[in-house]
Amino acid sequence: MGCHTCGRRQVDPDSGPSAWRRAVVAGEQVLVCPDCQVEGWTDGLDRCRSCGSTVLVKRLGEVSCRTCGAAGDGGQPAEGSSAPSAARETLADDVAAALERVLRGEG
Ligand SMILES: [Zn+2]
Ligand SMILES: [Zn+2]
Repeated sequence: MGCHTCGRRQVDPDSGPSAWRRAVVAGEQVLVCPDCQVEGWTDGLDRCRSCGSTVLVKRLGEVSCRTCGAAGDGGQPAEGSSAPSAARETLADDVAAALERVLRGEG
């Protein structure tokens, strides 16, 4: 895999960690060489839906964020947390009714 921007082939670093950066563009894992990591180079990268970070890694077909850990980029909407509470309210009414019978001294 070469540099996404200039196409240069990645070479094994002689020492220390590689300065090549992983990123995700249009849902695909890409590499960017150190020379192309100039100011604004992240403008064209995919961003995390949760935190906006461009530090994304695609693994096993799934894009995950290295910054906040958010995973999944399959166009699925986030799970809504506004579930109807009707069942909970019904249960509360039953409990209140039972408690009221007890307090009224039935027994
Ligand atoms: Zn490059
Ligand atoms: Zn994130």
